[in-house]
This record gives sequence, C-alpha cells and structure tokens, in this order.
Amino acid sequence: MTGWIGGLQVRRTDRGQTPIADFLCTSCGTHRRITGRDKVTDYLRDNPTTAHRATCSANQKGTP
Ligand SMILES: [Zn+2]
Repeated sequence: MTGWIGGLQVRRTDRGQTPIADFLCTSCGTHRRITGRDKVTDYLRDNPTTAHRATCSANQKGTP
C-alpha cells in the first residue's frame, strides 16, 4: 500500500503516455481503474466522486 486513503487519483506513466485514473471508495470498497487518455478524460468529466456517491452502497444504507 502507498498510503492512499481513497478517492480519486490520476497519474501518468510518463508525459504523453497513458494516464491511469484510480477511484477508491473507502465507504464501500469500490475500486475502479480507468486507463487510456480518452477514457480517463471522459471518466473525470463525469465527476466520478459525486457520481459514485449517488450509487454508493454505503450511502444507501440510511435510505430505505
Ligand atoms: Zn462507495
């Protein structure tokens, strides 16, 4: 482990190389990895943190 406590993290292997987006929800444990410039761009545009919050199983425990 790298000390990453969850959320959204985007890194690139090198300049101009394939970006990698990792999303980890510490509430429900969902982990998603997106690779590829277009896919990452699209993924970030959707604001995955907010989007996930709407579907997060941990958040839905309180609502019947
Ligand atoms: Zn979640």
